[in-house]
Amino acid sequence: MAWDFETAPEFQARLDWIEQFVREEVEPLEFVLGDPYDVQHADHLRLVRPLQQRVRAQGLWACHLGPGLGGQGYGQVQLALMNEILGAARFGPIVFGCQAPDSGNAEILAHYGTPAQKARYLQPLLDNQIVSCFSMTEPQGGADPLEIRTRATLDEGQWVIDGEKWFATNARLAEFFIVMARSELQAEPHRCISAFIVPARTPGIRIVRDCGYGSGARTHAYVRFEGVRLPADHLLGARGQGFEVAQTRLGGGRIHHAMRTIAKARKALDYLLRRAVSRRTKGEPLAHKQMIQERIADCWIQLEQFRLLVMRTAWLIDKHQDYRKVRKDIAAVKAAMPKVLHDIAGHALQVHGSLGLSDEMPFMQWVTESYFLGLADGPTEVHKITVAQQLTRGIVPDDSPFPDYHLPRRAHAASEKYADLLGSDPA
Ligand SMILES: Cc1cc2nc3c(=O)[nH]c(=O)nc-3n(C[C@H](O)[C@H](O)[C@H](O)COP(=O)(O)OP(=O)(O)OC[C@H]3O[C@@H](n4cnc5c(N)ncnc54)[C@H](O)[C@@H]3O)c2cc1C
Repeated sequence: MAWDFETAPEFQARLDWIEQFVREEVEPLEFVLGDPYDVQHADHLRLVRPLQQRVRAQGLWACHLGPGLGGQGYGQVQLALMNEILGAARFGPIVFGCQAPDSGNAEILAHYGTPAQKARYLQPLLDNQIVSCFSMTEPQGGADPLEIRTRATLDEGQWVIDGEKWFATNARLAEFFIVMARSELQAEPHRCISAFIVPARTPGIRIVRDCGYGSGARTHAYVRFEGVRLPADHLLGARGQGFEVAQTRLGGGRIHHAMRTIAKARKALDYLLRRAVSRRTKGEPLAHKQMIQERIADCWIQLEQFRLLVMRTAWLIDKHQDYRKVRKDIAAVKAAMPKVLHDIAGHALQVHGSLGLSDEMPFMQWVTESYFLGLADGPTEVHKITVAQQLTRGIVPDDSPFPDYHLPRRAHAASEKYADLLGSDPA
């Protein structure tokens, strides 16, 4: 009988170290530093690098990776327990070497890269000497990758990339892009896109403008690729394998975002509780008002339900070691995540009154972020479609308008089953 919600004491000790380290050393960074991905900035080198060394010394660097790539091979359950602490701090993932989109890009370079590609791009990425950009969405469509129009053509042994990409995260700071482009015009729809490694300094790449919002205004960019020439060996994976490459990176990325979202939602709930017991109205604390009590209960229930779904999905990934077998569960986590952060941050905002709505509190930022979470890595609707399709797959349609679960049919079947024992006398 294996059904256990305990954390092993040795690992709990590591989590305790992480919790204290993040609270005391990592959380303050967001008040004195700019973009966590600006890894060459002098202040970053001064403040972040020593913390990264301490994480390495604890054996906690890049724990999403297997030992072959310098990680601990912790698996997703242990990673979830770590990430739900790291997500509380803006610099948490970068200090622990597991920040998106680099973590996913490292995953596909490790999986599909040639030895030369790994030597040139993967190792410095793993060491956080550089950061990277994954570029798939285009101005005319993101949710449906079949809309991709960026072209890759072979010309005198070189690939030439032409097209536009939208909302490319970290485009300004990236050392290289992984670009999805249409290279196989005659192939069936899901075999027509290939993935390319495009060094950021290649001539022909132009940032048209930033397209983010608020504190992330310069994080995402509208990028144009005009006659960008690449050596033939900058294809990542095989020709036409782009969708498969993209799926490989997104499976892990989506669940890791969810783990970190737990941290933010939990923080919002903590702040809500603090305010509810501190702020008084009509002679008593807000926490004594039943409408506030309902909010508190709803938030806690929503958070715990979500956390259980995330942990169970992490456990399934560890068990199957194949994201495709856990597609429905990952899609469900991805679809649930924005609403959890939106609702809990929104309730915390409301309970803080006008202070909650000001930019002296983090709630508006979290509410905005919940919309980011509902779009980045695909919109919520698309993930709900995946859940529904997976659930209905293989279910045989009924050939009668009165299916076998229709109560009169069940009653009839039951009376036939017990006819001998019950006899014909209904009295
Ligand atoms: C914070 C953030 C970071 C991002 N980072 C990156 C990045 O690094 N690289 C990158 O390539 N992209 C990135 N994106 C883009 C992201 O992948 C897209 O926003 C997403 O795939 C949706 O594409 P779209 O914005 O073009 O919306 P559209 O495809 O135009 O969809 C708009 C809306 O239509 C509805 N919709 C779409 N499809 C369906 C459907 N099948 N059924 C029902 N309704 C549907 C949904 O409500 C959806 O929100 C990022 C986005 C955000 C917000």
